[in-house]
Amino acid sequence: MVLILKDGTSDSNIMELVEYLDAYNVSVSVTKGEHTTILCLVGDTSSVSQESVQSFSFVEDIRRIQEPYKAANKKSHPEPTVVDINGVKIGGGNFQVIAGPCSVESEEQIIEVAKAVKASGATLMRGGAFKPRTSPYAFQGLRAEGIELLLEAKKETGMPIVTEIMSAAHLPLFDHVDVIQVGARNMQNFELLKVLGKQDKPILLKRGLANTIEEWLMSAEYIMSGGNKNIILCERGIRSFETATRNTLDLSAVTVLKEKTHLPVIVDPSHATGIVQYVEPLSLAAIAAGADGLIIEVHNNPQKALCDGPQSLTPEQFDNTMKKIKKLRRFMETEI
Ligand code: PEP
Ligand code: MN
Repeated sequence: MVLILKDGTSDSNIMELVEYLDAYNVSVSVTKGEHTTILCLVGDTSSVSQESVQSFSFVEDIRRIQEPYKAANKKSHPEPTVVDINGVKIGGGNFQVIAGPCSVESEEQIIEVAKAVKASGATLMRGGAFKPRTSPYAFQGLRAEGIELLLEAKKETGMPIVTEIMSAAHLPLFDHVDVIQVGARNMQNFELLKVLGKQDKPILLKRGLANTIEEWLMSAEYIMSGGNKNIILCERGIRSFETATRNTLDLSAVTVLKEKTHLPVIVDPSHATGIVQYVEPLSLAAIAAGADGLIIEVHNNPQKALCDGPQSLTPEQFDNTMKKIKKLRRFMETEI
């Protein structure tokens, strides 16, 4: 970290700042130019609060040389993390497709969809039991009963299940859930992230609606610093000025993350676009961009879905999309 001081900063002010920085375990070197003085901080600067340093009125600018995330940083862990979900691996060349309805609605619905997506090649099943809805009057999910039904579908198909948590108070209900999803709206629910850091289950961490890649990685850092290193990042589109799609899929985030972190990255083209016919082309684009997997909404009767029908593929559409996904994956794995 480099601190640039304002022109004419007095020696006593420089000493005051150096003494303040003594409290942190960093070494400080002072370089005085003709007009400008700079302080270089070397060591682990992650606990140095930028805001407190900025509050010294004679500090002109602060430049971070190192990223503020450590555990998630590729520099500290160059090998890709492979998250193992009861034998289903994501990351480091292992590609998986998670599929299922937005919400669990009934036993018949979840089992029918689970069997269909498995037959098409999905290896993990999704389904919301606790639903984060904009309106309190909209369907809120079957909650505990929804998780029971997911467990039934797991028993029927053998597929591990992925479902969203909205409150740490619900954690006991997630005992037999294989992957806990943190939705976009909770990406910065730091108390929830801290609790999940103490779990030994993989966490699917979705990107917040208006969060930068660095903020997203700092949320992963919350979980990792608690001890849980099994995180899968999920790009699901961000808010932009564009209204033609529900969100704007930031595929560049996949390539940026591949450079910055060792954690696996998957893409959710369903919530990113909100429109069924865009799901397949963006699934293929995500694979080309280097994603480690996809999470796709599939419903056995999208017109009657209680949530997100317009973006849900029918099992037949999903089957066709999976054929193209497999073809593209094979092509990408082939040496040319
Ligand atoms: C979901 O996956 O069901 C969901 C609500 O997604 P997001 O948090 O990305 O909006
Ligand atoms: Mn949904």
